Amino acid sequence: MDTGTVSMDSVLVTGGAGFLGSHLCDRLVERGHDVLCVDNFFTGSKRNIAHLIGRPYFELMRHDVTFPLYVEVERIFNLACPASPIHYQFDPVQTTKTSVHGAINMLGLAKRVKARILQASTSEVYGDPEIHPQTEDYWGRVNPIGLRSCYDEGKRCAETLFFDYHRQHALDVKVVRIFNTYGPRMHPNDGRVVSNFIVQALRGEDITIYGDGSQTRSFCYVDDLIEAMLRMMDTEAGFTGPINIGNPGEFTIRELAEKVVALVGGRSKLVFKPLPADDPRQRQPDIALAKGKLDWQPRVALEDGLGETIRYFRDLLAA
Ligand code: NAD
Ligand code: UDP
Ligand code: UDP
Repeated sequence: MDTGTVSMDSVLVTGGAGFLGSHLCDRLVERGHDVLCVDNFFTGSKRNIAHLIGRPYFELMRHDVTFPLYVEVERIFNLACPASPIHYQFDPVQTTKTSVHGAINMLGLAKRVKARILQASTSEVYGDPEIHPQTEDYWGRVNPIGLRSCYDEGKRCAETLFFDYHRQHALDVKVVRIFNTYGPRMHPNDGRVVSNFIVQALRGEDITIYGDGSQTRSFCYVDDLIEAMLRMMDTEAGFTGPINIGNPGEFTIRELAEKVVALVGGRSKLVFKPLPADDPRQRQPDIALAKGKLDWQPRVALEDGLGETIRYFRDLLAA
């Protein structure tokens, strides 16, 4: 049904049926934008956006961003890319293609229609970092030939393309480097630590800690993350980033396991498994730039965000 009301800017979200993309679509629809969600459903799911189908300013298109896309939009959020190691290592060549050819196509589209375009980059561009916490001017330490390279180097090349289109074609680009994010609509079996631990705890299974659990990550709740992405998209032209977004609260993987077990209850034991290759030792965003430019910092404490996520998985597993 078309209500006949005037909508705000039209926005393309690639990867819009995924975990982050679907939350972004929610917020954009709420704000009154005309939203085009493009996804090939490799890791995304119709369930994530089912509640938006039928809304007058929401449109879903099945499409793979490695192929050209001709649409008319004013803003583009480029999120299409599998994000968990299990998924991006399933077909590594396709992962690199999605990042690189996907970026070229979306940048070509942005150039043709003069759209502002934001890239969902990642803290993985820092690789296994030698400086801590990571600031945006750190160039990173990435293994170019390892198992994670298809993702890390694909995302690094996408950043290169964004900045070259900016310099060469005066494109209005924004790059956000997203640190580990969690929340409802994560995949239950994507192997990421938050979803793994919650699902294991809910099933009363052992909690699988890789290595000795002393490696650290900083976990940002999805609502905080989406707020920062929206604010970045609204910054003045010429402010390109890259900008770190994430939660600087840093926890060891063992601490995370203990928190999840305490929140879920039950009798799960912690068990230790081999550490995967190239697994970064520590990761924490320096978010001084985001605080200054976006007037943003995360609000949701880990316990609260985990509580919401546990509720989501409890319903999902019961369904
Ligand atoms: P996700 O796997 O849930 O979402 C990715 C979406 O992209 C899925 O819906 C998938 O079907 C779609 N997709 C994959 N390849 C595609 C292609 N070739 N054409 C069209 N659609 C395609 O992952 P997510 O966690 O929502 O991540 C979204 C973006 O944010 C990714 O670019 C990811 O690299 C980035 N990111 C996420 C995190 C995180 O912690 N979740 C951290 C850093 C960066
Ligand atoms: N492209 C697209 N949609 C558009 C315009 C371009 O998907 O609306 C793709 C097209 O496949 C092209 C790529 O974006 O190869 C890069 O476009 P650009 O104009 O930068 O380069 P060129 O067309 O000269 O290769
Ligand atoms: N991890 C773990 N048990 C699991 C899944 C992951 O101990 O069941 C560890 C993993 O080795 C890494 C950390 O948790 O050190 C975060 O892993 P994730 O895949 O979630 O994110 P990334 O490594 O990409 O930051």
